[in-house]
Amino acid sequence: MDVVPPALARLIADLSRLPGVGRKTATRLALYILRRPAAEAQNLARDLAELHGAIRLCANCYAFSETDPCRICQDPRRDPRLICVVEEPGDLMAVEKTGSFGGQYHILHGVLSPMDGIGPGEIRVDELLARIRRQQSAEVLIATSSTVPGEATAAYLAKRLQEVEVRVTRLACGIPMGMDIKYADEMTLSRAIEARRESW
Ligand SMILES: [Zn+2]
Repeated sequence: MDVVPPALARLIADLSRLPGVGRKTATRLALYILRRPAAEAQNLARDLAELHGAIRLCANCYAFSETDPCRICQDPRRDPRLICVVEEPGDLMAVEKTGSFGGQYHILHGVLSPMDGIGPGEIRVDELLARIRRQQSAEVLIATSSTVPGEATAAYLAKRLQEVEVRVTRLACGIPMGMDIKYADEMTLSRAIEARRESW
């Protein structure tokens, strides 16, 4: 006999689809939500329901934003001649937190991964080249992770960036091999930005 009421079972199934959340954790979270006041669950439900409607991609840098262009692309204090290329929105947040970067971003939303069907067309490289020409950017800082796919993506980008006249730099050493930049501590990441090196 199944003792889990259907409404609770549905929530557990939904939560267990989140990355890193197994069935055990999903059950613990669902029971926690159920024990808390109903208003908290309603707030959570409202935030989830409004998420997709409220957030879009900035057409310039592809960051998640409530406005298009995003706040960073609109900010006159941010230097459009310097573009930092990152894999994911979470990486942008990590670089922003260091306060060491005064340029704009370009978010790839992935790395090259032929096995998963992610090719150059999926990571908006043509858009990056067009933007460099349009904004007359002078430097592109490639801040993909030091994982194998991150490095392969960086090498591909560096090659394509030869099509435009731009200085290409890479985060300096200090980010351990295999590390996702959003998990680097702020000091390490900040130093890696300041000591960025000419690549290729
Ligand atoms: Zn933007």
